[in-house]
Amino acid sequence: MERMTVTNEAQGTAPAEAASRDFIRDIVAGDLASGRVKKVATRFPPEPNGYLHIGHAKSIALNFGIAAEFGGTCNLRFDDTNPAKEEQEYIDAIKRDVEWLGYKWDSLFHASDYFEQLYAWAEHLIRAGKAYVDDQSQDEIRMTRGTLTEAGQESPYRHRGADENLDLFRRMRAGEFPNGARVLRAKIDMGSGNINLRDPVLYRIVHAHHPRTGTQWCIYPSYDFAHGQSDAIEGITHSICTLEFEDHRPLYDWLIQNLPVPSKPHQYEFARLNLTYTVLSKRVLTALVREHHVSGWDDPRMPTIAGLRRRGVPSAAIRDFIKRIGVAKANSTVDVGMFEFSIREVLNKAAQRRMAVLRPLKVVIENYPEGQAEELEAANHPDDPAAGSRKITFSRELFIEQDDFMENPPKKFFRLSPGNEVRLRYAYFIKCRDVVKDANGNIIELRCTYDPTTRGGNAPDGRKVKATMHWLSAADAVAAEVRLYSSLFAKPDPAGGEAFTTDLNPNSLEILKDARVEPSLVQMNSAAAVQFERQGYFCPDPDSSPGRPVFNRTVGLRDTFAKDIAKG
Ligand code: ATP
Ligand code: MG
Repeated sequence: MERMTVTNEAQGTAPAEAASRDFIRDIVAGDLASGRVKKVATRFPPEPNGYLHIGHAKSIALNFGIAAEFGGTCNLRFDDTNPAKEEQEYIDAIKRDVEWLGYKWDSLFHASDYFEQLYAWAEHLIRAGKAYVDDQSQDEIRMTRGTLTEAGQESPYRHRGADENLDLFRRMRAGEFPNGARVLRAKIDMGSGNINLRDPVLYRIVHAHHPRTGTQWCIYPSYDFAHGQSDAIEGITHSICTLEFEDHRPLYDWLIQNLPVPSKPHQYEFARLNLTYTVLSKRVLTALVREHHVSGWDDPRMPTIAGLRRRGVPSAAIRDFIKRIGVAKANSTVDVGMFEFSIREVLNKAAQRRMAVLRPLKVVIENYPEGQAEELEAANHPDDPAAGSRKITFSRELFIEQDDFMENPPKKFFRLSPGNEVRLRYAYFIKCRDVVKDANGNIIELRCTYDPTTRGGNAPDGRKVKATMHWLSAADAVAAEVRLYSSLFAKPDPAGGEAFTTDLNPNSLEILKDARVEPSLVQMNSAAAVQFERQGYFCPDPDSSPGRPVFNRTVGLRDTFAKDIAKG
């Protein structure tokens, strides 16, 4: 890998294309070089209690990416140890989203596959005097855990004998006790400087239906007990997780050392992704859906993979973004503009160009014969001749964008205004002669003339115009609904937790019900992204019906962020 990186750089490969290196990849490369590890094995371990978001994509790209780059394997493992919050819908959505992101798991597992083995290992700890059943309540346990500066207090049940503990633990499993009546705790050190080592809970009583094991179990392992041991069963070599688990690593290691596990995985932590104007807490995302602040998990304003997909963000843009931001060990917040930069990069190349008028204004070409129409050639992509071209219709009645006309323009307004000449893209020069208004003074149409010698958009006498505008033939344009999205939150650093509604952006969705699009758009492959010329990138929404296309704006064209980074 080391050599590959150097070669790529020498060849001047763009940063996004170069094999990226980071401290975790360095560790993996080192472990392979030293022979500590023969073959790399990673896993992505989502809890199926919500949909995946762009933060998860960072973890997915890291785990699957490392496996692919170093000739190893990566498993998808559902951490389904909390039956109360987990649902099959989430399991299905997570699988779909990982695949859509472009990754393939080598094996699919569930932590619940290991419940019997985990239970046996819990009994092993009890027999070894390293775990005990505690009859204290959750509150009592929390209150006796101590603080960062004060040691915890030992439970009065800490010195129970192994036989009594075994008997009680088996009766917990048999369902003899109600929720919360007892827990199994590891017996480590109530005086430890690390609170996670102060006799952490290994098993809880939860009488709940589990999506996979049904009512077979009424005790469930804690995250800490399930996670490392699942890693060991699967032979995971590098168990990669986010920084908040750094303090759990001593417990992870303690369990691996004190159990007869088949392999000895190691945990490594990296900084989670935070994005401006975005909340990536599953609790908040769940509340947004449940309380109907959005239309669902796949609302195009959501930072979920399903939402981004519906919004028209290609998976290649997500991968490109993740590659650009890299992997570090210190938490930071990434500007959402950087994500939009990646989206534009990919769509600029991939999306065909079409014309659409979002807020139509009628134009009548007075010197164009009534009842006549002609076909003009329009390129589908300015930089890609292979994308071909299409025919567009020019006629006497057209639509232009309301914003492209001003009756009393300021000095630097070069688009259409009375007496001013502009180019209609792929068509002709037109000049505005008159403005027609209704009784209230609202503009209802413009009377214009065209210059027949400028067909294709150039004047034979060499005269220039300062603006080129998009337009549609009124008779041929298809009525469409266009949904314009802006960020769901109005602040760069929105309040999370209980207060999440305070920073919601009340204008995150604008629906234009009277837009017009080129007829060719209705025939296009329903998944295709397009650029509406001069406006942005759009994609068809599944809410479209045969006579009524609906388009989502994926992202606008303006890339102030790109200019900023180009300036340095
Ligand atoms: P929860 O609060 O429910 O634990 P979670 O987002 O951590 O939410 P998990 O299903 O546990 O959800 O996450 C699966 C994996 O994705 C974990 O390894 C987690 O560390 C990682 N992950 C979660 N959020 C981010 C993020 N913002 N950036 C990078 N990785 C993340
Ligand atoms: Mg988590």
